[in-house]
Amino acid sequence: MQKFSRYISPVALLLAFLVLAAGCAKSSTPQGESKSPGPQVQQEEQYSPEQDPTNSAGETPGQNGETPGQNKNSVPPETKDRDNKTAAPADDPVPGLLPATVSYVVDGDTVHVTLAGGKKEKVRFIGVNTPESTKEIEPYGKEASAYTKSRLDGRKIWLEPDVEERDRYGRLLAYIWLEQPANDAEAEVRAKMFNAELLLNGYAQVMTVPPNVKYADLFVKLQREAREADKGLWGPAGEEKTGEAEDYYVASSRSTKFHRPDCEWGKKIAPANLVKFKTVDEALDEGYEPCRVCRP
Ligand SMILES: [Zn+2]
Repeated sequence: MQKFSRYISPVALLLAFLVLAAGCAKSSTPQGESKSPGPQVQQEEQYSPEQDPTNSAGETPGQNGETPGQNKNSVPPETKDRDNKTAAPADDPVPGLLPATVSYVVDGDTVHVTLAGGKKEKVRFIGVNTPESTKEIEPYGKEASAYTKSRLDGRKIWLEPDVEERDRYGRLLAYIWLEQPANDAEAEVRAKMFNAELLLNGYAQVMTVPPNVKYADLFVKLQREAREADKGLWGPAGEEKTGEAEDYYVASSRSTKFHRPDCEWGKKIAPANLVKFKTVDEALDEGYEPCRVCRP
């Protein structure tokens, strides 16, 4: 008897399960009872104590898993709403971040990275330009390159793309986040984005290349702070870069560069597009960057 019941019990359990399942589906329990009433009782007795812990065990982690999950899901929208009501307009979560590891620093604003999937990319930072340190050496170029190397070499970063994914050299264009930002508000940019760090410390100038202009206005603001504080290339170390002051400077409304009035490139600007600035600061504040040839 014991042997038989031991043998039968797993099969009976399965049968009971099937019967119950069928019963649930068809809501007809009499069929199961009529087929095998004897073992059915045993099965149900064995079945129920096993099934109960299974059920409760199954439900408990399920609820545990669901409940905090629902909490997590329900909390961020509330905080988002609060933020949206109170804070500056630009505090949306940053979409499309690509985790990457810096494998080599080319210069102040260009690095090689390995993406999460193992793909290697050359990345040019968006919106900033550090002085040259490779083919030609510009004042403060080596300092900027050394700074980027000290901060990024071997480091895990997050790449934020803008509208245009690559430049004409095929380089990936990105904002470099040192930590994952909670949103794209100014405080996060100041604290966690390396492009901003370069500007704030005077290792880079603003270089705005449409259509990648998401943070362009903020970058101009950060650059102004660095200039006013004589940081980096704006201070004594970068002074040899700037020659004598001109009476005025020129730029094209269709370009991002400004020039000394006697620069060959400045002279080519069509009169209809000609913009004039009284000082270098004025041009920089408008988001223009110095011409590489005449170096205003
Ligand atoms: Zn020029």
